Amino acid sequence: MDNDCLFCRIVAGEIPATVVHETDTTLAFRDIDPKAPVHVLVIPKGHHPDVASLARADPSAAADVLAAAAEVAEAEGLVKNGYRLLFNTGEYAGQVVFHVHGHVLGGEPLGPMLA
Ligand code: IMP
Repeated sequence: MDNDCLFCRIVAGEIPATVVHETDTTLAFRDIDPKAPVHVLVIPKGHHPDVASLARADPSAAADVLAAAAEVAEAEGLVKNGYRLLFNTGEYAGQVVFHVHGHVLGGEPLGPMLA
């Protein structure tokens, strides 16, 4: 755990979150500032700054995050109409929390990614 990391502190229960899914290795909770009717963040419990670091350091945990995101999408009723799963990676992508997180977004048409 990184004591300066917001999402590590959510994993530790030090900061409240609306948890929607949890496994031994992952946690999923609602985004505090949702950009779609459904906006859930899926994270590994271990601290890795971004998805590339996670994939390199712990491929099994990366797979767990993807599987958890699929479970969340199913539970939130997003599978029929589709949804977006994205990992902002680094400053130019707008990543502001440097504990890897997948955004599960859906519940309405999201439009093209690069419009
Ligand atoms: P990023 O831009 O990909 O790093 O996304 C960070 C996300 O974390 C943003 O969508 C924020 O709204 C979200 N966020 C920041 N603080 C919290 C929190 O305490 N709980 C839940 N989501 C948060």
